[in-house]
Amino acid sequence: MKFVENPETAVLAAAKDMLRRGLVEGTAGNISARRSDGNLVITPSSVDYADMALDDLVLVDPDGAVLQAKEGRMPSTEMQLHLACYRAFDDIGSVIHSHPVWATMFAIAHQPIPACVDEFAVFCGGDVRCTEYAASGTPDVGVNAVKALEGRGAALIANHGLVAVGPRPDKVMHITALVERTAQIVWGARTLGGPVPIPEDVNRNFAGVYSYLRAHQ
Ligand SMILES: [Zn+2]
Repeated sequence: MKFVENPETAVLAAAKDMLRRGLVEGTAGNISARRSDGNLVITPSSVDYADMALDDLVLVDPDGAVLQAKEGRMPSTEMQLHLACYRAFDDIGSVIHSHPVWATMFAIAHQPIPACVDEFAVFCGGDVRCTEYAASGTPDVGVNAVKALEGRGAALIANHGLVAVGPRPDKVMHITALVERTAQIVWGARTLGGPVPIPEDVNRNFAGVYSYLRAHQ
């Protein structure tokens, strides 16, 4: 089971970074990390990222029961999505859910983001798939996300946003930012006649590097 050293510090730093990069607004989106004991540190519901401090973070067990929280702090309403990812993938230490504008354009169109920028598949494992639709806050959001995440570092949540997984919050933030940037590039390339695909064998090799790194970092 993969876990994160100093998970509280790592989650808070990624939360501030997510706001700085414009990948969320206000209190939307959420970040979590797995501790060495299997419990999870997650950002709270309804606290602005700009004001968030270490003691605002919530500690939950793998089933979502709150183990530690400052008065008035609740785990994110989208916690079930995080729990489903940790349950399904033993080799991840962090999950980030965000609502970035360009990626969400693909999510509402139910269109994958193709791996057509060189080395995209090294970081994401291939095309970023879109899930089947499920209403926010229902367990099916997690079930569908796990399916779309198979062999991937990110998936679009239909009509909603993005979820990314990886070893540590800073790495998962990198994936989130890369997917968002690529969504914008692909959208632009389509106005130029559409992206030319990378040869399949090249992308297969990149995906192989992704799998290797995922197993070894
Ligand atoms: Zn959301």
